[in-house]
Amino acid sequence: MEREDAVEDLSRIMTERGFTLSRLNDESFIARLGSLNLLIWLPSEDYLLISDPLEFVDKMGLSKVDGIVVVSYRAFYMADEVSKLVDMVRVWNGMHLNIKVYAVDIYRLEERLEETINLALTTFSSKVSNINEPDGPCPKCGAQMIVKYRHKHKSYIYGESVTEDVIVCDRCLIKIHRIKGSGLVGG
Ligand SMILES: [Zn+2]
Repeated sequence: MEREDAVEDLSRIMTERGFTLSRLNDESFIARLGSLNLLIWLPSEDYLLISDPLEFVDKMGLSKVDGIVVVSYRAFYMADEVSKLVDMVRVWNGMHLNIKVYAVDIYRLEERLEETINLALTTFSSKVSNINEPDGPCPKCGAQMIVKYRHKHKSYIYGESVTEDVIVCDRCLIKIHRIKGSGLVGG
């Protein structure tokens, strides 16, 4: 997949999932949903040569986002490099970046991005919360779970329209990302 096509697909998928995208520079976007801010990075090179980690952090605005989504042909390698860099500035510079690093393989953009969004919405359920509805008992402690986020969209993994719920147990903090579709059994 060409990078330009990837940008187009990525914008479409994220918009379908309710995110607002704004372009930061040639290689990156900020995707916003509620108070969740994700940096979407499509590096033009498949390697990371950093001489000054702090400059990289500053240039990428890593201290202002909740997570970085690396979309690349070598996404896992690149995400690993970014994670190392986050560790590096903590050890060397005492800078604690509270960010999640996600890898999205550009060859399987639709499915991988969908999985990544599912994960990010679950992790940051309080930042994207749009509903507060009681659900069934928590599988761990039995307390009533609460639906914190609900959204309908077309799933590229299941190939149909689905409703996703993020349900949370406030007592033991278990979180579940649940998908319901017309052809799906259970949840
Ligand atoms: Zn519980």
